[in-house]
Amino acid sequence: MNNGITHIVVVGGGTAGWMAASALIRVLGRKVTVRLVESDEIGIVGVGEATVPHIKLFNNLLGLNEADFVARTQGTFKLGIQFRDWGKLGDSYIHGFGVMGHDIGLTPFHQFWLKGRQAGCAADLGDYSVNTVAAIRGKFMPAPVDVPANNPLGGIAYAYHFDASLYARYLREYAEARGVRRSEGKIQDVELHPESGHVAAVLLANGERIEGDLFIDCSGFRGLLIEGALASGYEDWSHWLPCDRALAVPCARVEAPTPYTRSTAREAGWQWRIPLQHRTGNGYVYSSRHIGDDEAAAKLLANLDGEALADPRPLRFVTGIRKKAWNRNVVSLGLASGFMEPLESTSIHMIQAGISKLLQLFPSDGVMDPVLVDRYNSQTRFEAERIRDFLILHYKATARDDSPFWNDCRNMSIPASLQENIDLFRHSGRFFRTAEEMFAVVSWIQVMIGQGIMPRGYDPLVDQMPDEDIPRFLASIRDVVSKNVDLMPTHQQFIDRECRAP
Ligand code: FAD
Repeated sequence: MNNGITHIVVVGGGTAGWMAASALIRVLGRKVTVRLVESDEIGIVGVGEATVPHIKLFNNLLGLNEADFVARTQGTFKLGIQFRDWGKLGDSYIHGFGVMGHDIGLTPFHQFWLKGRQAGCAADLGDYSVNTVAAIRGKFMPAPVDVPANNPLGGIAYAYHFDASLYARYLREYAEARGVRRSEGKIQDVELHPESGHVAAVLLANGERIEGDLFIDCSGFRGLLIEGALASGYEDWSHWLPCDRALAVPCARVEAPTPYTRSTAREAGWQWRIPLQHRTGNGYVYSSRHIGDDEAAAKLLANLDGEALADPRPLRFVTGIRKKAWNRNVVSLGLASGFMEPLESTSIHMIQAGISKLLQLFPSDGVMDPVLVDRYNSQTRFEAERIRDFLILHYKATARDDSPFWNDCRNMSIPASLQENIDLFRHSGRFFRTAEEMFAVVSWIQVMIGQGIMPRGYDPLVDQMPDEDIPRFLASIRDVVSKNVDLMPTHQQFIDRECRAP
């Protein structure tokens, strides 16, 4: 790297800002300075948070100690998400992380399950996933280091639930210890270079002027630089992802924390439940066209498992993405780059994916070459659109007809890319993951089947296995999964032993 980029300014100190500052100082700290500006007066979104297993890669990049990180953020472990009342009232299924059953050659496990189901010898799909069985039984254990590849324990994948404000504080300590300089204050103006139109500096209310070569906009929904200064544009996806408001409220814990997030479909959206060590996070994500704020708040408060610890906190958003996540010398991350609602906990993953791409395409010479910028933007769009389709699937694939919201969701038109995947799956249970999209085949399968899309047939490759072997094959996997879960400690026991919050 030459001296093209020497000063990076991160605008915003929420999850996105501190994740970006930590990773940039960790990877580029010998060559660049990193400065972060945040406003205590404005504060951060800081609800939730539930994550996906990819976050472990990010934590590894920083070199965080898992036990310390979980303890300091009041964290718990997440094996998947339980969806209640989504396909129809009374339904429940788990989207478990990790593998499912045992693939044979080119044939994924669920194809054997489909044939077994037709023959009447298959149990619930979840019974073949170590994550799902452990989640339901309140057990947790990471995969042992020396476990053989064909053992179900080798397939455990997990993420975390944590207190977002504590996570930001934890990363702040990490980043400041490595040289990130923090300035507190409200940015009032953004100064552009008269010729290039690049951002030259941000101006704080106290008169301070902070210059930079590269700006990372993590200013939240307002997109202070990417939209406020550079008018990069926003693509609205609310015709597909209809929820536009949320109310968040913590409540007292009344039982041991579950090793999974719960999402319960309600009449105009859905309610999350995120167990932490010290409390439980809850929220109602809803469509303001279908329910009023007061009614949504009443529904949320009536559906908590413990006493509410605060008043519900309102949040408003428009689902969609920034048309250019990277524009001139500004890269937007987090809510500044778009928001697709928290249904599958993908926002923090998108922050992490953005940071990785930026590091891989870093404009070391200071030239914002379109070769780098365009690739960053097209890759970001690809990742976002694949997640968007996955989220829409949850709303579209429902038989619920008990409210105008669900009638609208059931009847909405969906992107052609999603329709093609649903059609192929309905035909014979086949599914192809597109390039490096975030969710694996096994995630799509669990949600499709969980929401009631049942294939008419199965992949004939399954017929390579003699018919009489199918029941034995299915039963042996189920048995091994169950016996492995028997060996695990409970989630609470694991936390008490390894990472209890102080
Ligand atoms: P923010 O937290 O809004 O931070 C913005 C920062 O910019 C703040 O520090 C603020 O002070 C600063 N700032 C803004 N304007 C100025 C200014 N003028 N001057 C100085 N500083 C300024 N994600 C998940 O992965 N899992 C979940 O379970 C999850 N649940 C969610 C639930 C809801 C209802 C919502 C809305 C989001 C959820 N998310 C979830 C998304 C997640 O909260 C965000 O992706 C994450 O918190 C990142 O936020 P951020 O850092 O981009 O923005």
